[in-house]
Amino acid sequence: MIGDQETCQVRVGGDAPIVVQSMTNTDTADIDGTVTQIAALAAAGSELVRITVDREDAARAVPHIRDKLHKQGIRVPLIGDFHYIGHTLLSNNPACAEALAKYRINPGNVGFKNKKDSQFSSMIETALEYNRPVRIGVNWGSLDQELLADLMDQNAKRPEPADSADVTREALVRSALDSAERALELGMTKDRIILSCKVSNVQDLIAVYSDLARRCDHALHLGLTEAGMGSKGIVASATAMGVLLQEGIGDTIRVSLTPEPGGDRTQEVIVAQEILQTLGLRAFTPMVTACPGCGRTTSTVFQSLAQQIQDHVRSSMPEWRDRYPGSESLNLAVMGCIVNGPGESKHADIGISLPGTGEEPAAPVFIDGKKAMTLRGAGIANEFKKIVDDYVATRYKPRDGKAGGGKSKSTAAAE
Ligand code: SF4
Repeated sequence: MIGDQETCQVRVGGDAPIVVQSMTNTDTADIDGTVTQIAALAAAGSELVRITVDREDAARAVPHIRDKLHKQGIRVPLIGDFHYIGHTLLSNNPACAEALAKYRINPGNVGFKNKKDSQFSSMIETALEYNRPVRIGVNWGSLDQELLADLMDQNAKRPEPADSADVTREALVRSALDSAERALELGMTKDRIILSCKVSNVQDLIAVYSDLARRCDHALHLGLTEAGMGSKGIVASATAMGVLLQEGIGDTIRVSLTPEPGGDRTQEVIVAQEILQTLGLRAFTPMVTACPGCGRTTSTVFQSLAQQIQDHVRSSMPEWRDRYPGSESLNLAVMGCIVNGPGESKHADIGISLPGTGEEPAAPVFIDGKKAMTLRGAGIANEFKKIVDDYVATRYKPRDGKAGGGKSKSTAAAE
């Protein structure tokens, strides 16, 4: 992997932590709407936020969006997502070029035929002028058709032609590598170029990124494009990225979930964080281990408690992240009965074993592997939350002795 890379003030590549990225779905020309969504994504923990820059109105809005975020103390780096006319938008709008921390260039639509090189070069020259890194982002759905046709022709002339799917995967990788080579020729340094080759099929994504990682040492942005909605999108993204991340492939990640109508855009940030945390690569929010429940616990008390505790730690995290560094690694357990409850609870930092059907109505709480108390009655949820809060305040010493009021980790990382 490459050496550390500055993307605005977030390090990418090399031994830097894998970075969580998200993308807005607002009209970028709607400054207030876009600021609101970026603020929500940043509060959820997105460390880079990509925004569409598709026309002059959007490009003109970008510096205002950046300024409004700064006024709110939000310094999350913004990535401009350009297609077709990025060269024009960047050259017509220097304030936009300056406000963005990184430019995404799609080599499949940066220009066609004899304009391709000049328009790609123009974007790279702007990046050089403003000292910005670029992501050369190839996508299955907008693959360079001239390159694909050329590779298909070459393949057809072979005595034993390869499968057309293999040729298409090769076209994806070649599009990224050839464009990176051209950017290097134009004067970009390797540590300012991130590559991505997104497809929507899990096995194709694994094959393409494995090949890409073998053939270059650029930082890689990972994501299953058009992953889909709900559990389908989450499972597909986690499966594909889990395999690659486990192999050490990927420096930034984005989960491309389709939100449910009226759904929360920040879900993609939480899923990305949970993929990294589940793999043990980073920690963002205390994890709650909970049993699935079975016929031994027919009430919904433990399900409700698990949900309340997960929501409580997630909503507390913006404050805890700064006030109690390390608290993101806390492990909690909420279990449904005596069978696995005490055992699992002892493995957690704090665990509670609720009474199953027919058991004595008492909930032993285990702290650092030892039984510390027993809760009873209707106030168990609030009492357990207080135990968690007290534990966090005691175990994770306040930073600089200050009590709260600090900026979020992503904000701090951007300074
Ligand atoms: S801990 Fe108890 S309630 Fe939970 S799944 Fe196991 S046996 Fe069932």
